[in-house]
Order: sequence, then C-alpha cells, then structure tokens
Amino acid sequence: MSLSLSELAPANIRAIAPYQGGKPISELAREMGLNEADIVKLASNENPLGMSPKAQMALEEAIYEIARYPDGNSFALRDAVSRKYGVQSAQIVFGNGSNDILELAARAFLTAGDEAIYSQHAFAVYPLVTQAVGATGVVVPAVEFAHDLPGFLKAITPKTKLIFVANPNNPTGTLINKTDLKTFLQQVPKHVLVVLDEAYDEYLSSVDKSEAIAWLTEFENLIISRTFSKAYGLAGLRVGFGLMHATLADLMNRVRQPFNVNSLAQVAATVSLQDEDFVARSYAANQAGMAQITQGLEQLGLSYIPSYGNFVSFKVTNASAVNQALLKSGVIVRPVANYEMPDYLRVSIGLFGENARFLEVLENILKS
Ligand SMILES: *Cc1c(COP(=O)(O)O)cnc(C)c1O
Repeated sequence: MSLSLSELAPANIRAIAPYQGGKPISELAREMGLNEADIVKLASNENPLGMSPKAQMALEEAIYEIARYPDGNSFALRDAVSRKYGVQSAQIVFGNGSNDILELAARAFLTAGDEAIYSQHAFAVYPLVTQAVGATGVVVPAVEFAHDLPGFLKAITPKTKLIFVANPNNPTGTLINKTDLKTFLQQVPKHVLVVLDEAYDEYLSSVDKSEAIAWLTEFENLIISRTFSKAYGLAGLRVGFGLMHATLADLMNRVRQPFNVNSLAQVAATVSLQDEDFVARSYAANQAGMAQITQGLEQLGLSYIPSYGNFVSFKVTNASAVNQALLKSGVIVRPVANYEMPDYLRVSIGLFGENARFLEVLENILKS
C-alpha cells in the first residue's frame, strides 16, 4: 500500500528534474487555437536558415537505404571530422546529438560517490547526466552570469572526477577567453576530466573561435564536445561528436549504443561539414539578427546579457507573465527560471521578420 510505483526508482533518479525543452509549434497551436504558420518559435537555438541545401539533397538519396542498419562506426563522417579538425579517427566519439556525448562521459567516468562540477546557470544537461549515474553535482556560483573558473578549481576535492565547462554557455551566452581557459586547464589535476562543451563554436568570430582542439595533445584529460544541431541546422537528426585522447574515446565507445547515430544523420552531417558556405551564411545571419534583437531590446529599455551564441537572455519584470503573453500572440521564447534566472527570458536569433515580430509583440505587451 505505502510502496508507490515511483519508489521503484532509486533516490537519485527520483530527484531528477525533467529537462524542459522549447515548446513545439504544434503544441502551442493546439493550446491557443492558432495557425502553425502564424507561430514564431525562437525557443531552442535552432538555425533559422534550416540546413545546408547540399545536405538536403544527400538526404533525399539516403532515404532509400533506411531499411539497412547505420554504420555503427560512422566511417565516412569519422573520416570527414578527422580531416577537418586534424585529429586521429580513434580520437572521435559520435553521439545521438552532443547531449549523448555528455551522457556517455558521465556513464563512462562517473559512479556513485564521485563529484562532477559545473557552473550555476550552466546547461541543464550537466546536472541531469550527473544525477542519472548517481554521482553528486557540485554547483559553482556564477560571477555576473559567467563561469567562475578559479571557483571551479577551489571546488575540486579528492572525489572530483569530471568538470563540465560550456563555452559559450547556454542560456547566458557568456564566453571564457582563451587565456583564462588554458590557464584553468593547466591547473586542473590530470586525473580530473574536463568536458568542454562547444556547441556554439561556429557562431564565434574568427578571433574568438576555440583553439582547444590544438590543446588535446597537451591536456590528456580534455574532452571537447561539438554538435550539428546549431549552426549546421540538423537539430532534428540528432548528431554530435566528442574529440579526446584515444584512450578516453575507447572507454566512451564501450558504453555507447552500437547504432546511436542514424544513417540519415551520418549522411547529412558528413555533407554539412564540407558546406562551409552554409555555415558562413548562418554566422552572418546570426550576427545581423543579434544586432537587430539587442538594439530592439535596448530601445525597449530592457537589459540583456551580451551573448556569444545564437540566442540572448534579457531581463524583464514578471518574466512568467510576459512569456504567457508572448505565447498568446504566437511567439515562443524560453523561460529560464529553472536556470535560477527567474527574471529573464531567452530568445533565439531568428530570421529578420521573426525577430521583428518578436520585438513588436514584446513592445505591445510591455506597453499594455
Ligand atoms: C544546444 C546545446 C547542445 C546541443 O545539444 P545536441 O544534443 O547536440 O542537440 C549542447 N550543449 C549546449 C550548451 C547547448 O546549448
């Protein structure tokens, strides 16, 4: 009688707060009785340009092979990543999205009693994967929304096995400069792994772009995670990868499902990686949209956290009510109260017209 079904799961599983994704367009259309075509979704940091047209063409061919299992080793994609980034094939692990890479790192290296460190306001998946394996998350308070790397070093204990660093971070958009990041890596003990999540690297200027791949030889405890979900526009296919020492890659591959990256994702990612023109257009569109949205926010007298990603978090009185009003008008942004940012909303950078619509609706809400 007293044993509820939920008690069948261990306490660490029951304590997990489910991931809250952006509301799907179809769901809002149902809830508000709106036309899907009238809804603007700026809630999941997706690429408003869609995907590479070359990838789309390749996908149309690849669909005929769906009856076959995918290549469990992602041979062609591995070759493309290896060439592009100048790493050995054995240093690459592929994931069902880079979320899978984060989870594989937790499953391969963390166990009950271990500690994993991450920042306050950091990407929600770090606590999720840490708790799922029964390890303990150690949260380092942010400094002006940014990672406090000296604070991370102070938080290291004999139980620390893994550190998650998001650069740029989501939902704050903050970036750690290269000197600070390298100094940090030099001070982290060799037996503590650092997972450096670079999901937004393609949105960084050539000056700011990460150099961490070149540091892999120096730091054997470094795991770099990348994704095809953002600038490459393949979020729905689910594919990402990790770059690391071959010994770490071997361990992560042992806990990886053999067919974790589907065949369409492999094809699209391989072609997308070579379509530098599409990534350049995505970067330029994001720069323009970021300027449009931040100028619009300034004109509305709203403050925001300067962002290096394809999204920006802005401050608003009564964020929850403003979010509801935006939804009613068919504009989906992301509330970030679950990131301990109850006064903020995060908006993803969209196309010119989508950004304009967001700003116009927001202005009307603030005036009313
Ligand atoms: C969007 C995002 C990812 C990407 O997740 P995928 O599983 O690759 O879609 C990873 N890390 C951060 C910080 C993100 O914001």
